[in-house]
Amino acid sequence: YVGARESTFQALVHSFSNRVAIIALICVVLAGVIAVPIAQFITYPIAELVEATRRLAQGDMTVRVPVYSQGELAVLGQSFNIMVETLHQTQQELLHKEKLASMGQLAAGVAHEINNPLGTILLFSDVMYKEASEDDPRRDDLKMIINETTRCRTIVADLLNFARQQEVLAQETNVHALLEQVVEGVSHQPSFEGVEIVRQFSPDLPTIQADPAQLQQVFVNLLNNAAEAMEGGGTITLVTRPVNSRWVEIKVSDTGCGILEENLGKLFTPFFTTKPLGKGTGLGLSLVYGIIKMHRGQIAVQSQVGQGTTFTVTLLVRLFEEGQVAPVSTPADVIA
Ligand code: ADP
Repeated sequence: YVGARESTFQALVHSFSNRVAIIALICVVLAGVIAVPIAQFITYPIAELVEATRRLAQGDMTVRVPVYSQGELAVLGQSFNIMVETLHQTQQELLHKEKLASMGQLAAGVAHEINNPLGTILLFSDVMYKEASEDDPRRDDLKMIINETTRCRTIVADLLNFARQQEVLAQETNVHALLEQVVEGVSHQPSFEGVEIVRQFSPDLPTIQADPAQLQQVFVNLLNNAAEAMEGGGTITLVTRPVNSRWVEIKVSDTGCGILEENLGKLFTPFFTTKPLGKGTGLGLSLVYGIIKMHRGQIAVQSQVGQGTTFTVTLLVRLFEEGQVAPVSTPADVIA
């Protein structure tokens, strides 16, 4: 007979249960200590994403989420950041286009109303100037009236050009021949004295569907700006190349004064000019922008102060697909 006292056995069972309970408790605490940071590690980026989405919904376009690791959440964070960036850019573009469209309507109205009275002033002052004798003291004043009225008419003509970008009369256009015509037309101007024009034309450039008269305006403006940015001379380089089967690219680079970074965003805004009073109207680049947008193209600018500026125009080879009729665009369509 082998026996044990019940009390000893009970004590043993008791101590065993206690140990099991303590071990279970320690396991639970340990699991908590380990699980909470892991859970936080997983849910923190989600909470940040939720907060960022809330701020975005309130219109805060500066919101970005930090991208910590390389997992799915990081990819989600990156996609969110890219989405906000694209949204921001699209919003800015829309605002700009809306501004251009309303400026176009306003400009057309004002220019139309002002054009006729200006013509009358010019006509009568010119007649009075011609009738005034050589020693008439009013001759200088009349000359001043004629000069200033002529300047106003140039501004009004620019405004009307800007507002009248209505129709893209597209036809097969040889970009090189067009650029040659533009160079031929502008290079006799005094601002082109001491300016060398270098051509780097790709022999593979296809003809494109575009409105040649409007494209001429684009490149006349870009070349004039380039020459005016290079007081004392410099080099303008014209580079063409096919980007792929759908797009061609035309670059106009100069070795001029460059553009301050804070001005880069305002270049295509109507009436933005850094030229002295009487020299610039600030309508050239907004006209260029409108024409390029009506051709469903792109225009970009890169500049380094003191070194020069490059405008890159990208245009579609086939503006209208087979069988599609050329659209008639109004400045308001530029929004589309
Ligand atoms: P405007 O020539 O009448 O001033 P634009 O719209 O053509 O109007 O140009 C706006 C401004 O952009 C210019 O006043 C000038 O400051 C700047 N700009 C345009 N092209 C160049 C260039 N190639 N180099 C330096 N600045 C330029």
